[in-house]
Amino acid sequence: MVGVAAPARARLSDLAAHLAALIRHDGPMRLDRFMGLANAHYYATRDPLGASGDFTTAPEISQLFGEMIGLCLVDHWERSGVPGRIDLVELGPGRGTLMADILRAARIRPAFARAARVTLVETSPALRARQAETLKAHDIAWRDSFAGIGGDAPLYLVANEFFDALPIRQFVGAEGRWRERYVALSDEGFAFTLQPSAPPRPLSAPQADTLWELNEPTAAIAAAIGARLAATGGLALVIDYGHARSAPGDTLQAVRRHAFTDPLDAIGEADLTAHVDFEALAAAAGVAAYGPVTQGTFLTALGIEARAATLGRARPDQAEVLAAAVARLTGPDQMGSLFKAMALTGPGGPVPAGFGS
Ligand code: SAH
Repeated sequence: MVGVAAPARARLSDLAAHLAALIRHDGPMRLDRFMGLANAHYYATRDPLGASGDFTTAPEISQLFGEMIGLCLVDHWERSGVPGRIDLVELGPGRGTLMADILRAARIRPAFARAARVTLVETSPALRARQAETLKAHDIAWRDSFAGIGGDAPLYLVANEFFDALPIRQFVGAEGRWRERYVALSDEGFAFTLQPSAPPRPLSAPQADTLWELNEPTAAIAAAIGARLAATGGLALVIDYGHARSAPGDTLQAVRRHAFTDPLDAIGEADLTAHVDFEALAAAAGVAAYGPVTQGTFLTALGIEARAATLGRARPDQAEVLAAAVARLTGPDQMGSLFKAMALTGPGGPVPAGFGS
């Protein structure tokens, strides 16, 4: 199956043709490289969010989500002694909706917005344009990566559905040895294949059908965030779907038009993601970690129901919509339990609101 045959599909997208040419030239492509190239194309060429796109995220469901995040950040900043200069950073800001809601909620403490230098980490030109539009009332800087953000001010960072989009490696253990997942060409198009490979860190002994995922960019970014928090203090909030404890299992998925699809189909036209391994993320950060708690627990502890009730009294025509949004964001059968929130803080920082006492 590893091979020479050109994909038989009648018409390949430019991206698929490019990937096929690379594989024909260099041999099978490691999964993380494939996922990285596919997602870079996917995000660079569209706004994937909302009903007319491929998937809907929490900030796009309701302003309540970003307001709760904003209150959590402001509360931590206040209990850290109202530092007069902070870096307010978002990773993968989508349409800029979450940052807009954070900044609106933060108006209860005008000194917070005055202290904040806002930086968005975004690689997609299409989404940067969309963020600039959403946040045109604010002074914003953009970066391609977190690594470029220097500074000695405390860091206040949020990342919602960012880490799930970063490319993973997959190691399959069977019969006492490890092999790694690659993408090859087959008669039908693209196909997964396994190649002998040693995992870069020890994984529990391979038994039949054990699959471990490794997200190296997540570990690198978490380490950089942890180093910055250790140096300057602050708070990083990571919200995403995933598992609290490292565990084996294949979580690679492709979503297009609000439905799951084959990751090797419609390459670059579907969102490729994997579950976030919160235990590995916290270990890579190497600082104090709180949670993860479920998104439902987090938002409820921050007072999402009281906020919805307040808004509903001011706008009775919106009360039903607000109640539905709360149910969608916190309901265990909806986003409330698959999605989780984790906080990372610098040494000696206060316990962030929403994570218990
Ligand atoms: N946080 C937003 C959007 C989530 S979609 C929301 O909740 O609505 C993922 C976001 O991460 C997009 O903005 C995408 O362009 C961005 N992204 C994906 N991979 C990235 C990378 N390697 N570096 C920077 N941004 C990336």
